[in-house]
Amino acid sequence: MSSKKKQIAAIKGTKDILPQEVRKWQRVEAKAKGIFELYGYREIRTPIFEATELFEKGTGQTSDIVTKEMYSFVDKGGRSLTLRPEYTPSIARSIIENGLHLQPQPLRFYFIGPMFRYDKPQKGRYRQFHQIDIEVFGEKNPAIDAEIVEMADFLCDSLNITDKRILVNSVGCRLCRPAYHRDLKASAESRRDELCSDCQRKIETNPLRLFDCKIEACQEIAQEFPKITGYLCPECDEHFRKFRSYLDLYGIKYRLEPLLVRGLDYYTKTTFEIISSKLGAQDSILGGGRYDDMMKDFGGPDICGTGFAVGMERLLSLVPSEEKPDVFVYFVTMGEEARRAGMELARAIRRVGVECLIEYKDRSLRNQMSRADKLGATWVLILGEDEVDQGVYQLKRMESGEQKTCSREEILKIFSEST
Ligand SMILES: [Zn+2]
Ligand SMILES: [Zn+2]
Repeated sequence: MSSKKKQIAAIKGTKDILPQEVRKWQRVEAKAKGIFELYGYREIRTPIFEATELFEKGTGQTSDIVTKEMYSFVDKGGRSLTLRPEYTPSIARSIIENGLHLQPQPLRFYFIGPMFRYDKPQKGRYRQFHQIDIEVFGEKNPAIDAEIVEMADFLCDSLNITDKRILVNSVGCRLCRPAYHRDLKASAESRRDELCSDCQRKIETNPLRLFDCKIEACQEIAQEFPKITGYLCPECDEHFRKFRSYLDLYGIKYRLEPLLVRGLDYYTKTTFEIISSKLGAQDSILGGGRYDDMMKDFGGPDICGTGFAVGMERLLSLVPSEEKPDVFVYFVTMGEEARRAGMELARAIRRVGVECLIEYKDRSLRNQMSRADKLGATWVLILGEDEVDQGVYQLKRMESGEQKTCSREEILKIFSEST
């Protein structure tokens, strides 16, 4: 009889991260957490979905994320909910709701987790993707901007990402941006016919996003548009100058990139990006900057913010694999009595921190030895009926083939010392 049952597949734009690959994820996550904690950052976890309104307010009604890419749905209570497309609005909400801004500032947070965007799936881009985010609230000094760039640089170094470059810019503030906007708009207007339809729309809605267009012809024209750096007010100019002097202090090499802007209105002053030529056309590993107006825009307290976000999938594509064998003990047991003794001993060994694998299927000695070999066991512990009677066990180190008879106490001592 043929079954007509259709296999249910993973949703387009999502993927399984299988155990072999997860190792690398865990290594990168642990590295990132370790480094962030060295600078005083603490982890924060917020829900994966929020009220749709939060992201509409957070990203601005005209951003592509809101207009095209949100995963929104109506729940059974008739509320419009959205799977978070970015992290910052959630963290801002959480700070306001929990009164975290009443704690001593600056507040330093990091976060690692999935985001969702209904984007066209393509190689290396997923609808569920993962991000590492760090955010600082309540520090105006450009030294903090330099500190997070240095921290991002440290993270890349610790993951052996050597082929990287740092780009920096300032996008000004609400005082100095209007004049720039006006000139940018006028300049884009004069070349309207040469721009793609998307860019034509951006002239009215959000001219800063003209620089994000992926079409080469548009990019070439954008090169000729006025640059924000010529419009900075004295405060923004001073901030940018100091920021760069702190990067110099850290010995960090960077390039000024006047076209590096952020389309979202709450971004202010510093922006930066770390890129790698190994990533191809979309070469950004990590991007960040300052958003002094965001919290206020959210109806929260007027505290400034700065931070960066790293796309995990991209970051991982740059991190070399590390073939580190698992360290574990494989139990070869002959008969029920020996298995019972093995189960009890495995429990004790796990509690000193060593992985144990015990078979519950009856197999021959030879079969078990060959499985231990195939699975890549570090040690094999052999328990036969006789050994159990005498309270001694055969411990074999697979790499050297060296084998010795040990008591329970000796075994626990060996494994306690090995961790
Ligand atoms: Zn300004
Ligand atoms: Zn365009």
